[in-house]
Amino acid sequence: MRISGIDVYYFDIPLEQPFKIAIGTVHEANNVLVRVQTDEGITGLGESCPFAPITGETQETNIAVARNLRDMLIGKDPLAIEPFLGLTGGLLHSNPSIVAAFDMALYDILGKVASLPLFRLLGGEPRSLETDITAGLDTPEKMAARAKEFIAQGYRKIKIKVGQDPELDIARLEAIREAIGGTPAISIDANQGWTVPQALAALKGMEKFRILFVEQPVVSWDTDGLRAVRQNSPIPVMADEALFSPQDAIKLIKADACDYFNIKLMKAGGIANSLKIGHIAESANIRAMVGCMLETRLALTAAAHLMAARKNIIFADLDGNASHTVDPVVGGMEVKGGAITLPESPGLGVDIDPAFLKKLRRV
Ligand SMILES: [Mg+2]
Repeated sequence: MRISGIDVYYFDIPLEQPFKIAIGTVHEANNVLVRVQTDEGITGLGESCPFAPITGETQETNIAVARNLRDMLIGKDPLAIEPFLGLTGGLLHSNPSIVAAFDMALYDILGKVASLPLFRLLGGEPRSLETDITAGLDTPEKMAARAKEFIAQGYRKIKIKVGQDPELDIARLEAIREAIGGTPAISIDANQGWTVPQALAALKGMEKFRILFVEQPVVSWDTDGLRAVRQNSPIPVMADEALFSPQDAIKLIKADACDYFNIKLMKAGGIANSLKIGHIAESANIRAMVGCMLETRLALTAAAHLMAARKNIIFADLDGNASHTVDPVVGGMEVKGGAITLPESPGLGVDIDPAFLKKLRRV
């Protein structure tokens, strides 16, 4: 079997409201859709979500790299995913999201050829998967109201964006706990927004609000700072922006810098590398979350398959489409009150609504 054609599309999804985190605001998900066809009539789908404030990519850089990857892959064996990753070289580091889109499409084909849903192909079993839902930065009152809405929708885990002035961040958590009570689980994400002293002041002030963990309290490159926070924080520390690749995972483990990993397909460059991070984490007795950017249910479903396949991925933050104005995906994972159901159809088990696909601009 050979790859006979690859279509690349601008895959823009407007948001209901701008998404604000400590390092930037996004108004629209400017994603890229990839459709890989084989000479045996099998099609694989992949999606990139280049989130510039975190990975430094844009839709345009992804499109430019997609042209290279397309040229590289035409005529190749679609099942040879490791050799493909070997060919990507520096593109994996400069544009991990678009590499993830191609890797995802190849895994979709692999699952279809094997007639197995991806999580089964990877050795997983159906198990209960639960995602949180995220409240972006706003006033304490508005964030508390938002958290209350989420609970009313049935969610049992809430993720709260922080990473600004520690006093304000503590006020946010106070208002939210007051609004939703003591039972729902809360995690927080500072998105690199604090210095080490700010992080420690904020986390000590928040201890009484029962926080599961804090994501990326300090800037991504400050491994010593991350370790300093971890050593002195009453709340466990999860590496997110500091963890892109399997190599980063080893660096963080050697430095004793965190308690948890946040694995994202868009940072790691897809499923193959995310699996490697999962194995490294398990071998170091580190548990992980699978996270996302602003993907549609296409890439979110791929991430859910990954979670179902790796037992040490115990948290999910797969709400990337929560404020999308349209859902162009047919099939795929379903979420009800945070509970994720995976499709049992082969591969990723997703398709794009043909009417929506027709309207997309092809590269
Ligand atoms: Mg994060």
